[in-house]
Amino acid sequence: MKKILSKDGSPRQTIEILKKYAFVFQKRFGQNFLIDPRVLDKIMAAAEIGPDDLVLEIGPGIGTLTQHLACAAGRVIAVEIDRALIPILEETLRDLPNTRIINDDILKVDVEKLVQEEGQGRPVKIVANLPYYITTPILMDLLEKRIPVDSMTVMVQKEVAQRMCAGPGSKDYGALSLAVQYHSEPTIAANVPPNCFMPRPKVGSTVVRLKVYDEAPVDPIDEHLMFRIIRASFNQRRKTLANGLKNSPELTFEKDEIQDALERCGFSSNVRGEDLSLSQFAQLSDIFAKK
Ligand code: SAM
Repeated sequence: MKKILSKDGSPRQTIEILKKYAFVFQKRFGQNFLIDPRVLDKIMAAAEIGPDDLVLEIGPGIGTLTQHLACAAGRVIAVEIDRALIPILEETLRDLPNTRIINDDILKVDVEKLVQEEGQGRPVKIVANLPYYITTPILMDLLEKRIPVDSMTVMVQKEVAQRMCAGPGSKDYGALSLAVQYHSEPTIAANVPPNCFMPRPKVGSTVVRLKVYDEAPVDPIDEHLMFRIIRASFNQRRKTLANGLKNSPELTFEKDEIQDALERCGFSSNVRGEDLSLSQFAQLSDIFAKK
C-alpha cells in the first residue's frame, strides 16, 4: 500500500509551499495551479490509471496532481519548464520513488524516445493541466507523431474543449475538431470554474479525455492533402467550400476541378466546410489524390 498523501492540493497547503520557496508565478508559463481536491479526483477518475501504467504529466507545477498519479500508476514522468519549481517538486515527490522529474520544455523533449526508454513498448497515458498558451501545439504534436499513446486526459480552456468535441453544423466545428477526431475519441469529463485554481484564470476550464485510436476512423489516400483541404475549408468560414479551396495558398486546384470533385461526392456547389463530416472530407480528398 502506498503512502497516504501529505499534500492534498488544498489552498492552505499550496500557499504554504509557495511561501516556503518564495515562488513567483510566471504568467508566460500559463501557471494556474489546481487547489480543489474534488477536481483532482475527477481528473483521476477520467484518466483510469492502474498500477501497470506509465504516465507522462506535462507541467506538474508544485506536484499536486503528480502525487495522485504516482499513488495510482507504476511510473510517472513529469516534464516541467520552470526551473524554480524543481526544488519544490523534489520536496513534494520525495516519498514517491516511482516519479521522475525532467526540467525541460515539453515541445523540445523527444517524447517518443522517452516513452520507449521508460515504457519498453507500453503505451503511455498523458495527464495534464495544460498551460493554455500552448495547448494546441502540445496536443497536435503528440497526436501527429504517432507516439504510442493510450489516452490523454487534459485540462484545457472550455472553448478549446468545445471545439475538440464539436461535430458538423456546430459553430465550434473546425480544423481542430477534425484533427482531434481523426486521432482520438474525445469526451468531456468535467467543467471546472476559475475558483478552483491559484491564481484564477480569466476563462472557464474543462477536463477532456482523448482515447487515442489504434486505427483512424477514416483511411485517406493522402492524409496531408486531406488536412490541407480541411484547413482551406475553414480558413474563410463564411465562404463556400469551393471558394475556400480555390483561395487557399496551400492548394492549386482549378475552379472546374473543384466543381467536378464536389459533384462526384454528391455535394451541392454552395456547400460549406462546416457541413462536411470527417469521412466526407476523406472522400473529397481521395478524389483529388487520384487525379
Ligand atoms: N499541474 C499543475 C497543477 O495542476 O496545479 C500546474 C498546471 S499549470 C496550468 C501549467 C504548468 O505547465 C506550469 O507548472 C508551467 O510552469 C508548466 N509549463 C508551461 N509551459 C510548459 C512547457 N512548454 N513544457 C513543460 N511545462 C510547461
